[in-house]
Amino acid sequence: MDTFFHSTRSTNGHLTGKQAIRQGLADDGGLFVTDALGKDKLSLDGLADMSYQEMALQVLGILLPDYSQSEVRDCIAQAYGEQWSDPLITPLRPLGDDYLLELFQGPTCAFKDVALQMLPRLMARTLPTGQEAQDDQKIMIVTATSGDTGKAALAGFADVPGTGITVFYPSGKVSQVQELQMTTQTGSNVSVCAVDGNFDDAQSAVKAIFADRELARDLDQGNRVMLSSANSINVGRLVPQVVYYFSAYAQLLRLGRISLGQEVEFVVPTGNFGDILAGYYAKRIGLPVKHLVVASDRNNVLFDFLTSGTYNRQRPFYQTSSPSMDILVSSNLERMLYYMSGGDAPLIQMLMNDLQGWGSFEVPESLLAKVRELFGCGWADESQVSQSISQCWKRSGYLIDPHTACGYYVMDQMPRDTQTPRVLLSTASPYKFPRVVGQALGLDLDGADDFECMDLLAKTTGTTVPQALRRLADSPVLFSDSISTGQMRDYVSRAAQRL
Ligand SMILES: *Cc1c(COP(=O)(O)O)cnc(C)c1O
Repeated sequence: MDTFFHSTRSTNGHLTGKQAIRQGLADDGGLFVTDALGKDKLSLDGLADMSYQEMALQVLGILLPDYSQSEVRDCIAQAYGEQWSDPLITPLRPLGDDYLLELFQGPTCAFKDVALQMLPRLMARTLPTGQEAQDDQKIMIVTATSGDTGKAALAGFADVPGTGITVFYPSGKVSQVQELQMTTQTGSNVSVCAVDGNFDDAQSAVKAIFADRELARDLDQGNRVMLSSANSINVGRLVPQVVYYFSAYAQLLRLGRISLGQEVEFVVPTGNFGDILAGYYAKRIGLPVKHLVVASDRNNVLFDFLTSGTYNRQRPFYQTSSPSMDILVSSNLERMLYYMSGGDAPLIQMLMNDLQGWGSFEVPESLLAKVRELFGCGWADESQVSQSISQCWKRSGYLIDPHTACGYYVMDQMPRDTQTPRVLLSTASPYKFPRVVGQALGLDLDGADDFECMDLLAKTTGTTVPQALRRLADSPVLFSDSISTGQMRDYVSRAAQRL
């Protein structure tokens, strides 16, 4: 069986999982995939009795077979330990007749922790055994963030030996809390910088930095530094996310809500398509998933794609209350199209050329039909997001953040099939966005800063502010750089020299 990884745009490559994780993005701009996906299945027997960590061992064993069992075991122990505020890691809560999976119990209060507590540990073990001592090559993670990835990556990589991390975020387009989470990050190997423009501008510039061979050569020869990505295109980020779909299923089994083998539906607040793609991988390795529903905010490029077959990035960009979903190019969609087309790399190459050249692509009708059998879609505008936050609070006494609210709205609009339980993935703590959430509940927040909003929200609802967020108010700001996208290359170069 060919367990090697290659680009979505060409089947020529022959990388191990470790190499794919170390490199991040394929040389031709494609994403790493393996044609072995789905050949090995995870047995559902005994799933209900497994801990999160035991499930992670099974999933990673199947999807990253070149890591040894003991390597994976060590990574899991470090990634899913005391830094999580719930021993279940991703606890399932009842929400009316439906369920909600809390993905925000990690150190930065957002779902990206699930992957980014793991990725640095996987990355640190990508050197061939025995070579660590001689090979002084370091990995510099460069990432563009629309808000949450940045902090989660910083928290994951800070002071991890042999690595450095540089985070760019769109200036003025993340919340006060999100910005402080990043600019107060400590660690000898971290750099944080604001960039003019929106997330897509920053992400495009990061992609150009990765494609810059001259820069790569200079950094390698001058500093023994290799650039890599922590964005959700990295295989090492995608794979850990597959685990919580199994965890949700196991918890439904334990509740007696489903019997073994019964199908479940997931509604996923979506931006770069990483979270929901992990659900697709879960299905491919044996999880009974009936539908995966893409929930978007007003940047509904995926909704248009899934209803028309045309992906068109040439459209207005909206800054919404769910910044981590304000995305016009959903990078991980490319992987889904690769697998759904039966591994048709030439087709993917053509579609991505079209996207690059014309700003849009159109998939064949047969492919769209196949995609639509599994993937549902919907989206919420700003007022629907606000109403959903207040409705969920009134109906269920449960506070949701604006990203989760997009999913809540979409789920609420869907026809209910009583046979199939629905799980809404909750991607951030409401306290990361206390102003929006407070306003939705009708609180008067005029003149209050984000921390006063948190306190007022807690007082009004009787819920608790996560300590990791509350103490940001008193943490010193360590980074205040702001640059244009054109200056990002130099910034990375200088950060690499400091490693
Ligand atoms: C990143 C993020 C999303 C979107 O996830 P993708 O994997 O990019 O689709 C949704 N909500 C929050 C809070 C996030 O941080």
